[in-house]
Amino acid sequence: MPERIEWLEDGTAGGSPYSPRFGDRYRSELGGLEQAREVFLKGCGLPQAWAGQPQWCVLETGFGLGLNFLVTWQAWKADPLRPRLLHFVSLEAYPASADDVLRSARTHPELIPFAEQLKRQLCGLLPGFHRLVFEGGQLLLTLCIGDAKAMLREPSFEADSVYLDGFSPQRNPDIWDVHTFKAVARCCRRGTRVATWTVARSVRDALAQCGFVVHKVPGTPPKRDNLQGEYQPAWELKKSRIAPERKAPARCIVVGAGLAGAAVAASLARRGWQVTVLDAAGTPAAGASGLPAGVLAPHVSPDDSLLSRLSRSGIRAMLQQADALLQMNIDWSPTGVLEHCVEHARQLPAAWQEPDGLATAASDWTRPATPAQLAACSLPPGTPALWHVQGGWIKPARLVRAWLASPGVSWRGNAAVSQWVRHGAAWQALDAAGHELACAELVVLAAGYGSRALSEIAGQPGGRPLALQAIRGQASWGRHAPDAEPAQAMPAFPVNGHGSLAPRVPLEPGLAWVTGSTFERDNTSTTLRPEDEQHNFGKLKTLLPAAAQALAAQFESGQAQGWAGVRCATPSRLPSLGRLEGRPDMWVCSGMGSRGLTFAALCAELLAARLHGEPLPVEQRQADALLPQYAAHAPAAVD
Ligand SMILES: Cc1cc2nc3c(=O)[nH]c(=O)nc-3n(C[C@H](O)[C@H](O)[C@H](O)COP(=O)(O)OP(=O)(O)OC[C@H]3O[C@@H](n4cnc5c(N)ncnc54)[C@H](O)[C@@H]3O)c2cc1C
Repeated sequence: MPERIEWLEDGTAGGSPYSPRFGDRYRSELGGLEQAREVFLKGCGLPQAWAGQPQWCVLETGFGLGLNFLVTWQAWKADPLRPRLLHFVSLEAYPASADDVLRSARTHPELIPFAEQLKRQLCGLLPGFHRLVFEGGQLLLTLCIGDAKAMLREPSFEADSVYLDGFSPQRNPDIWDVHTFKAVARCCRRGTRVATWTVARSVRDALAQCGFVVHKVPGTPPKRDNLQGEYQPAWELKKSRIAPERKAPARCIVVGAGLAGAAVAASLARRGWQVTVLDAAGTPAAGASGLPAGVLAPHVSPDDSLLSRLSRSGIRAMLQQADALLQMNIDWSPTGVLEHCVEHARQLPAAWQEPDGLATAASDWTRPATPAQLAACSLPPGTPALWHVQGGWIKPARLVRAWLASPGVSWRGNAAVSQWVRHGAAWQALDAAGHELACAELVVLAAGYGSRALSEIAGQPGGRPLALQAIRGQASWGRHAPDAEPAQAMPAFPVNGHGSLAPRVPLEPGLAWVTGSTFERDNTSTTLRPEDEQHNFGKLKTLLPAAAQALAAQFESGQAQGWAGVRCATPSRLPSLGRLEGRPDMWVCSGMGSRGLTFAALCAELLAARLHGEPLPVEQRQADALLPQYAAHAPAAVD
């Protein structure tokens, strides 16, 4: 359930929001807008403090109805000297509904356009981190849903400004206590400015105890005083706490022009890097990312496993990118996906079923399929199936091209990297003849299974290769006219659960279907095999018998076509993302397995965040689970 809010009459367009949980109003007597500007922005010296900076990071202890975020966004947008990237990290234990957030902004008409954009992304706020993206990726809101102290346990970033907000210390003492401020202090550098509207003695004492030097400043009537200060502890900061690396943008070589490499290139270019993407092939997306169309759907598990949570973060990131860069219903479509649980009914986490708990947020992601959705698939009522609301299909190659077209990215084909040479602070990429392909201060290996060989030629200390495995896959596809029988026997949305079917993908002229796929470990061959077509047909018969029947003629007459590619997987079945052991400025972003569409955009943002010491789009321990794994020895994949 979203947090319950009562709207009290106060003569304004939206009314005054009141929290029955805390017995307190969301806004001060000053009004939300004035408080945001006077207390928080001005209190932290903004916008002057961020002028000319490449990046800025605001940390807020209570998101509430998002007013401070909206006002900061508005100030950033209006400022010609704004930082290139603004991070806003906000903690919230009890998220309000998207409708209440918009209603709260109605009192301030100039904020409505911002609030409407915010509303569109406020869904599925289960506990954990949620990265919302605005302004072409230059304004990043990380909503941390849960207990503030737990959320800040392992911060990865340094905040430049801190807004301490929340219900009054009498009503919600937890958010103002020394433990919360200790957690906040862990995210501060010496000089981080802090501001709040309360001057309560207990708050000042707790802040002082945690290293903040604060003083009262005159408020705007009727408010007498506000509090401002800086993080200036009297003690030396522990070395581990000082400055995560904030790498200055320079040149970068990305090897691999598939989903992983193109996404990294776009994320780095947004931060000011000059990126050269090299690929052995003559066209972009010539590897696994050349799949005609892929299915995007979250993973679910009864214990809401790491993979399940990461898949939701990945899908949120991918849908944002598709929405911003692709043509809906031509290059992609957020149709939703039906998961036919072929072997047995899938259990959802127990907490997702509690009406007063997470049921509403969870149902933004996944819910039991309805009889109408089953009927659209010609599956009998009662068939165990889930409906993934945030699912759909995407043509990966379209997205790769869109990412490669980002300002700051240049792409070079027929450029197979065979050798690395270190030149001072830069890496030189050479081809087989020893000619330079590119030279840069940073390298990202995003070459699918090829990343393993590329890391080996970089001379891994200890000689341990990356633990990456090649998995050959063949998909089947064909065309159908929109009014032809096969198209009518199929649902308008993809189905997965035992292989998958993307039934109606526009492909000039007409519509196409894509189904599959085979799964063969340690095989790097992309030669098409007729027996794999039959394997895919067999899988489809189990997944969607009616669709298989409608396509039988195409499979039997040899009209069904094949497409083969090589996936790259890791032992953990999670992507491999991080700096290579002992290799300065060489990173890997690979191991997307069967979920390149789920993980590519998230991994790219995670890589950029780690590189710059920015807030991460996922919790630290989730990010750490993706750190590169190494193999003890190196059996080669064969054709
Ligand atoms: C049959 C099949 C079906 C799939 N279905 C889905 C699906 O429905 N949904 C989904 O999310 N995912 C799906 N996937 C997985 C998805 O396609 C991959 O996860 C994703 O494309 C991987 O992207 P990538 O950029 O890591 O690798 P790739 O797209 O393989 O790109 C790697 C690139 O590196 C280049 N390269 C390699 N070595 C070098 C070198 N030395 N020098 C220069 N360039 C080099 C290659 O030429 C290649 O272009 C499927 C995969 C297959 C095979």
